Amino acid sequence: MSTDTHPFQTEVRQLLDIVIHAFYSDRELFIRELVSNASDALEKLRLKQLTGAAVYEPERELRISITTDEEKNTLTIADSGIGMTRDEVVEYLGTIAHSGTKKFLEAIKESDGKGDLIGQFGVGFYSSFMAAKEVEVITRSWEPDAAPVKWVSDGQDGYTLSEAPADTKRGTEIIIHLKEEDKEFAQPYRVRHILTRYSNFISFPIDFDGEHL
Ligand code: ADP
Ligand code: MG
Repeated sequence: MSTDTHPFQTEVRQLLDIVIHAFYSDRELFIRELVSNASDALEKLRLKQLTGAAVYEPERELRISITTDEEKNTLTIADSGIGMTRDEVVEYLGTIAHSGTKKFLEAIKESDGKGDLIGQFGVGFYSSFMAAKEVEVITRSWEPDAAPVKWVSDGQDGYTLSEAPADTKRGTEIIIHLKEEDKEFAQPYRVRHILTRYSNFISFPIDFDGEHL
């Protein structure tokens, strides 16, 4: 099984450089971004089903699972949503594919203050690198014939892509390998507290460390 190395698009590298080096006190917002992506992915899957598309694993429940592991210093956010094909992973997690981050980069060029802008524009998925030394994404698209893919990056120059196990379930699992100074985000008490603040806005069930939140 092969592992390919891909460089990030220049704009992504610029964005990551800002995100990683910004002194930003509100670091926990990356959790909100990842949970909102999980919710979006579930919403898209629901829409596919409503419009009669033949989705992979049609009986699989639509939910978000969040797990902490203090020993491994990881936080994992998984969903049973729409997932991504290999091409989608390359486009969505390697380029500036959406307007929010584009606007952020434009605004940053006109300003010195970085902290406020991160919160104001939201840097989406890439905000995970505020707290992560490495991010692993394992994903399996809703499309019946899609191959499961694994994306890994330290947020520096690029990422690697490889095949994920054939029995990978539909949806996306994001494993955040936390920096030593951000290990609080592997503490159940801390993460539960963060989650309860905005889980009311999520219309799918959330499991936290194996129990309904
Ligand atoms: P936004 O959510 O504003 O589009 P993000 O940076 O948060 O921007 O995410 C970029 C893209 O990556 C999303 O638009 C989506 O296509 C894809 N993506 C991110 N997380 C997931 C996920 N959990 N499941 C499926 N696709 C995802
Ligand atoms: Mg998002």
